[in-house]
Amino acid sequence: MEKIDYCYHTHTTRCGHAYGSEEEYIQVAINNGLKVIGFTDHVFLPGISQPGMRGDYSLLDDYVNTIKGLKEKYKDQIEILVGFEAEYLEQFVPYYKELLDSKKIDYLILGQHNYVKDNKIIWYNANGENNEFLHLYITHIIEGMKTGLFSYIAHPDFFTHGLYEWSDEASQAARRLCEASIKYDVPLEFNLGGFRYPYNDNPNRKAKLRYPNMDFWKIVSEYPDVKVFIGPDAHKPETVSIDYEIEYALSKVKEFNLNLQTRIKNH
Ligand SMILES: [Zn+2]
Ligand SMILES: [Zn+2]
Repeated sequence: MEKIDYCYHTHTTRCGHAYGSEEEYIQVAINNGLKVIGFTDHVFLPGISQPGMRGDYSLLDDYVNTIKGLKEKYKDQIEILVGFEAEYLEQFVPYYKELLDSKKIDYLILGQHNYVKDNKIIWYNANGENNEFLHLYITHIIEGMKTGLFSYIAHPDFFTHGLYEWSDEASQAARRLCEASIKYDVPLEFNLGGFRYPYNDNPNRKAKLRYPNMDFWKIVSEYPDVKVFIGPDAHKPETVSIDYEIEYALSKVKEFNLNLQTRIKNH
């Protein structure tokens, strides 16, 4: 079987919804022949408390030091990077820059789950199907791309979570993302995490869409210059590398002729 030899999207227990020790994730990576594993827990934000979603800011030093210790311990077996999955939030751009410039972390990926206004967390899909939120989601990601701080965009099709069906507006959103991805040279991630959410099997409720979303990736296929990474979005050690997930992703890479990359550009 064809394989990928990296995992750039890995969480730790600090976010409150992931399981296992860092060392267990690393062991799975080594046993599956990976050459690099990067930890990208949900970024800790000073002054923002979001229990169950992201760890407290006070965990920053422990997170960085733990992974840097393991980087040294396993240096002959695998390359280990420390980073964060972070939302583009204008007020935190200087903080992100400082994390990178001080070499505290190696890289950032942009995972736009929510935004923050007046210190309140706002979810894009809070109001169900709402094209205004879709527009805002894409606009925030593009602003993030412009900062040059992010190595790639995690689950760019996350917005499909809030839609009951694909629409012209969704197509337009996908095209805006592809054009910006090329313009600012920020790759997109084919994210495997969306598979693992439980299905909504209530027959009285129409199921919402999921990512990775093939209507989205079909549009990406029209933009061969868009660079693509496969992202396991591991929240448990075994999900660092699951054969059938990787196989599925690689079959879609082939089907849509996606421009698959092997190594991220660090900051
Ligand atoms: Zn995410
Ligand atoms: Zn993630």
